[in-house]
Amino acid sequence: MDYLKLFRVEPGSSVRLNKIDPDFKDKHEDKESAELEIVKQNQKIHDLQYLMYAENRRSLLICLQAMDAAGKDGTINHVFAAMNAQGARVRSFKTPSHEEAAHDFLWRIHNATPAKGEVVIFNRSHYEDVLVVRVHKLVPKEVWSERYDLINDFERNLVENGTHILKFFLHISLDEQLRRFKQRLDDPARHWKITDADYTERRLWPEYQNAYEDALEKTSTKHAPWFVIPANRKWFRNLAVSRIVTGTLESLDMKFPEPVVNIDEIRRQYHAAEEAAAASAP
Ligand code: AMP
Ligand code: MG
Repeated sequence: MDYLKLFRVEPGSSVRLNKIDPDFKDKHEDKESAELEIVKQNQKIHDLQYLMYAENRRSLLICLQAMDAAGKDGTINHVFAAMNAQGARVRSFKTPSHEEAAHDFLWRIHNATPAKGEVVIFNRSHYEDVLVVRVHKLVPKEVWSERYDLINDFERNLVENGTHILKFFLHISLDEQLRRFKQRLDDPARHWKITDADYTERRLWPEYQNAYEDALEKTSTKHAPWFVIPANRKWFRNLAVSRIVTGTLESLDMKFPEPVVNIDEIRRQYHAAEEAAAASAP
């Protein structure tokens, strides 16, 4: 199945998140039976990211959005583990600093976008400005409702400049979120992740789902599509994201740059002489 088609939000279509199954796992029984494909996808990501860095002409921006504990960190861990740190970066967006808040909402975002040859993963993004900001009424409706168009224009500008954009919404159920909160409570190594806000935001689940549906509908474009990823199963979520990333990178038909020297000439003129010298050295 082509995940690029299956999970993509078609531009102009309407989105009902409660109609999308967060438990979906395609043909796979469990993690073990998917393992071979997961390894294969990671190898592909590794090779394609290396090629993007070498080619140095285009870039990839991956935006991750989700409710708390839906697996943004886990997805980053998985996808990023397959990449070379040279040419790949993660950027997390928190509550805007004083300086960031004194600028337009895209200011801090634009500054973090990938340069040619780079892959950048956003852990949260400019979409927070039509999600948390809308749900908590941090700015009036007249302000946030204009932002969808501003976002589409902004992203088009990036695309025109050679950046490919993939946006993932990691879709979990309300029950699964609670299970994961419980696992965090039970694991001292994850206590640091727990905040009051996790539980207070959870009560706003319907408001968030609504805000997400609007964002997905208004900003899934041909040039910067959204994908809704079934994410109750961590291994399936990783596999789905990996496949969409590799499928996209493969479609770019990237090429290694031409060598800056004549390789045959280098082989003849320099290398052969060095080998001869090394062989006759005492
Ligand atoms: P975390 O990702 O769990 O470290 O939390 C980051 C927090 O920053 C979340 O509660 C986000 O909702 C919040 N945040 C991110 N961007 C914005 C924004 N533009 N305005 C307000 N809050 C934001
Ligand atoms: Mg959090």
